Amino acid sequence: MPIRPENRRRYPADWPEISLNIRTGRSGGRCECLGECGRGTHDGRCPNRNGRPAYVTGSHVVLTVAHLDHTPENCDPANLRAMCQGCHLHYDRDHHRQTAAATRRAAMEEAGQQPLFLEPAVDCSPEWTPPLRHRPVVDVPGPDVWPGAA
Ligand SMILES: [Zn+2]
Ligand SMILES: [Zn+2]
Repeated sequence: MPIRPENRRRYPADWPEISLNIRTGRSGGRCECLGECGRGTHDGRCPNRNGRPAYVTGSHVVLTVAHLDHTPENCDPANLRAMCQGCHLHYDRDHHRQTAAATRRAAMEEAGQQPLFLEPAVDCSPEWTPPLRHRPVVDVPGPDVWPGAA
């Protein structure tokens, strides 16, 4: 996974070394995913090895290092996994979606727009009734102004 430019400064200076250690040392050049990726295509540890054809697609495997908690600052070996592209992409996918949504929302707010309609907030089913604040205000006279009340 290429490091995104806005995240680059979050990595420690010795990240290349840490990463290399995990990819070639600890992992022995094999994807360390034990199913964390959630793609469910491998039982137990992923069989993909760096530089070999991937087991499903046959594409050239390049091991990368994933942060299990998606926090680049956290380079505790326990937080790191050597992962093939397939596992890493799948593992990060949900996280990317959330990050992208948050980025869009922040951009809208910065532009002075209400982020209200970014997500489908309105349920279009027939049972749907508008929230209270959207209902027309009906001016019903109270009992004290009814004819004959005084
Ligand atoms: Zn893998
Ligand atoms: Zn996997």
